[in-house]
Amino acid sequence: MTYLIVMCPYCGEIRAIKENQKTALCYKCGRRFRTLNARIVMRSVPSNKVVEIIKYLKTRKGRELLLQTWGREINA
Ligand SMILES: [Zn+2]
Repeated sequence: MTYLIVMCPYCGEIRAIKENQKTALCYKCGRRFRTLNARIVMRSVPSNKVVEIIKYLKTRKGRELLLQTWGREINA
């Protein structure tokens, strides 16, 4: 089982979901979004790497990386 790292389209929160999952609930804003509408940060992430990657993306450096990719679209 591998995971997708996605960004909530409403608030920009990062979370991991199973690759075959169609919808996900955001822990931060509580809204449900479709995987298709989310920004995919990373694909095919093995379960033992999920925590590490999310942790990294929430650091200043990780945030900068996301900003470089999506710029002003991120309002979080
Ligand atoms: Zn959200």
